[in-house]
Amino acid sequence: MSSTKETVLEINLAHLTHNFNYLKSKIADHVKMLAVVKASGYGSDAAIIAKHLEKIGADYFAVAYASEGVILREAGVKIPILVLHPQPVNFPKLIEYKLEPSLYSSRTLREFIKIASLLGEQNYPIHIKFNTGLNRIGFWENDVDYIINQLNATNTVKIVSLLSHLAASEDPNEKEFTIHQINSFKKTSKELIQKLGYTPIMHQSNTSGILNYREAHFDMVRTGIGLYGYGNDAKFDKELKPVASLKSIISQIHRLEPGESVGYNRAFKATDFIKTATVPIGHADGISRQYGNKKGFVIINNQRAYILGNVCMDMIMVDITNIDCKEGDEVIIFDANSNAAKIAEFSGTISYELLTAVSPRVKRTVIEEN
Ligand SMILES: *Cc1c(COP(=O)(O)O)cnc(C)c1O
Repeated sequence: MSSTKETVLEINLAHLTHNFNYLKSKIADHVKMLAVVKASGYGSDAAIIAKHLEKIGADYFAVAYASEGVILREAGVKIPILVLHPQPVNFPKLIEYKLEPSLYSSRTLREFIKIASLLGEQNYPIHIKFNTGLNRIGFWENDVDYIINQLNATNTVKIVSLLSHLAASEDPNEKEFTIHQINSFKKTSKELIQKLGYTPIMHQSNTSGILNYREAHFDMVRTGIGLYGYGNDAKFDKELKPVASLKSIISQIHRLEPGESVGYNRAFKATDFIKTATVPIGHADGISRQYGNKKGFVIINNQRAYILGNVCMDMIMVDITNIDCKEGDEVIIFDANSNAAKIAEFSGTISYELLTAVSPRVKRTVIEEN
């Protein structure tokens, strides 16, 4: 039945298409879709994901750092790529690869104008980010005049968009705060646009914003987790389907007697006759040690098998005492039925952390089916 022969992260492009179209159905026709593919497309594979999304109609991409944008350009991505958190040291590289910086402070704006102007650029597309309450990166409301003064003094750059980021759009208890963020973004953008004399596009919404705050859609929405669909998590829409499945196989089965132990430091000691399976995935592959000692589990033959003892660098040992299975059988770490959000929550983290930790050592495979 199963074709899994080693540890793989399987990327389902049909699910990616489904999620993209589903989110698109939640926004008005004129609203553009920006796909966030930072952190290797939330741990999957940025180039595979981006090439597919470009084909099915994404308008824009965003990454966190310039190096991630370079990977997309080298994979042949043609549409605009916004770099959300660029570091000035990489501005020359960013320009070389026609990436578009989100500038978030007087230092980054000044530095970017300086470097772009030295390189002879004119009307280079930039994005201005406002802080409206996340208090992470962004200009403040009272920075508008500074921005205008910098821009009036040069034709090196041109603002193509104004953006801000919501802090708690998934939380209904923070509705008042979110509305305040939306109003603050509107007010600041309006002031800047009046003084600027032209109208950049505006965007503020992340995935939960798309689903919960129509008034925050503006001209474009940004979605990351919505594309990957993790998924069946109260925060998100049940319609979203998980794109990545992490699978492995049973390398070996052992039968242990009471008093015998499992793994390093003998962290698990059997009090009964038990049966264990060794699975070739460890903390170097992204299964962090917090999943050890029965906090995490995998699925074998539709049943949960808890991780015994400490997670090793390359392997885990799981309890299969009551599971009918044999060496070579498939092991599911997460998939559509046992989703990453659930496993992550069980061991005290969130799906994003589990997903983005899947290391490059794990082979990526692509399937197109439903
Ligand atoms: C990561 C990120 C997003 C995407 O958020 P999701 O909730 O995953 O859709 C959007 N905007 C910014 C600025 C981000 O850093």
